[in-house]
Amino acid sequence: MAKDSKSKEKGKKQKLADKLFFNLKNCWEDVDSKTEKEIEEFASSYKQFLDRGKTERECVILACEMLEKNGFINIQNIKDKQFRTGMKIYQNVRGKSILAAIVGKKPAVEGCNILGAHIDSPRLDLKQNPLYEDSDFALLDTHYYGGIKKYQWTAIPLAMHGVFVNADGKKTTIRIGEEPGDPLFTITDLLPHLAREQMDKKASEFMEAENLDVLFGSRPYSDKDAKEKVKLGILALLNAQYGITERDFAGAEIEFVPAFKAADIGFDRSMIGAYGHDDRCCSFPALKAITALAHEKTPPEKTVICYLSDKEEIGSVGNTGARSYNFENFISLLCESEADLRLCFQHCSMLSADVNAAFDPTYAGVFDKKNSSFMGKGLVLTKYTGSGGKYGASDANAEFCAKVQSIMNKNKVQWQFGALGKVDKGGGGTIALYAANLGMDVLDCGVPVLSMHSPFEVISKIDLYTTYKGYIAFINNA
Ligand code: MN
Ligand code: MN
Repeated sequence: MAKDSKSKEKGKKQKLADKLFFNLKNCWEDVDSKTEKEIEEFASSYKQFLDRGKTERECVILACEMLEKNGFINIQNIKDKQFRTGMKIYQNVRGKSILAAIVGKKPAVEGCNILGAHIDSPRLDLKQNPLYEDSDFALLDTHYYGGIKKYQWTAIPLAMHGVFVNADGKKTTIRIGEEPGDPLFTITDLLPHLAREQMDKKASEFMEAENLDVLFGSRPYSDKDAKEKVKLGILALLNAQYGITERDFAGAEIEFVPAFKAADIGFDRSMIGAYGHDDRCCSFPALKAITALAHEKTPPEKTVICYLSDKEEIGSVGNTGARSYNFENFISLLCESEADLRLCFQHCSMLSADVNAAFDPTYAGVFDKKNSSFMGKGLVLTKYTGSGGKYGASDANAEFCAKVQSIMNKNKVQWQFGALGKVDKGGGGTIALYAANLGMDVLDCGVPVLSMHSPFEVISKIDLYTTYKGYIAFINNA
């Protein structure tokens, strides 16, 4: 009797705890075999996307392919520029950023539901005059792009991607190091035997930016009178294969990226390791979400937009970045007047689809564990980013946070929250504040990542899938 009432008492307490505490289970815990299959299929198409899209330009090509396959039309081909309900359209912005929309039943002035992600990732760009010869090596001078730990980019296989454009406007696309049998590139590091001085330096100093030079060749051109024979040999090969000269580097966009392929991580294959998860693990689900919606029998209530921007990693600047007018210009196409456009912004709901730092037990010290996001626990809703006293943050309204949370709850999408590390340990930002500047409601929402900004980042397959489900729920219900 006493025992019975004790366990009853315990049961009651458990129920109260369930009701009052915010506890999250690991999403893998109650996955059925059907969902597991869907997770695996989604992960596998994502890995293919990663291997084919290692630069913003390549991602735009892939996005156009996906959109066109699902009935989206390039606005260039819509002569009357009349965008009627149910139309699926997209705009390719200089081959480096893309905007897609499905025109809803309600006029745009009543607001659009937007997913905004970015498709650029940290990497090494070539300088304008990169090629030089030293000690019988041909080397390429780089300029790093985005926030990297420079030492991570030495002694790993690199691939060369990008475009040369000649004076006549002829574009030559380069992609070396991705196909079997391709040559690879690398940046040399110092052997430990001779690194005593280097190892005493701070990590931020021991690999200098000016030393991030790519090993590009070592075979001299056979001409006994020529100077810089190795450099000449390389230029002769480049000229024979691509018709370019040294001058063509001056305006080219050549990016060196890790040559690794995306791969399953862990003996249980629960994770994916790859270059460029930030922010392709949000861009890809965003694209998949809008293309999935394109197959619905009836158009969405509100117009739905997917924006994949460039230059986020260097502050969303430039004419393909989220601070440019591209975003506004695109939405203006959907509005009747300038006044409508301004009103539309005020009524837009947007998820800034970007990654957050997953709690890493190895580096527990920089995280506030009870405010961190965890791998395997679903999509992360980040109320604010920024650094220090919330500087540079788009601190989302409580009302909008509640709205997004409720959409996720109703659609059985597990969400978690996540601050970017401990206060004053660092910080970061996304494109959220630029949408907020336009007057939109916007909240950061994406996948937790380990080793963010490294050449090989890691995410959980179930978070990727949950994020996709969350994006679909949002564009249908916000
Ligand atoms: Mn990002
Ligand atoms: Mn980033």
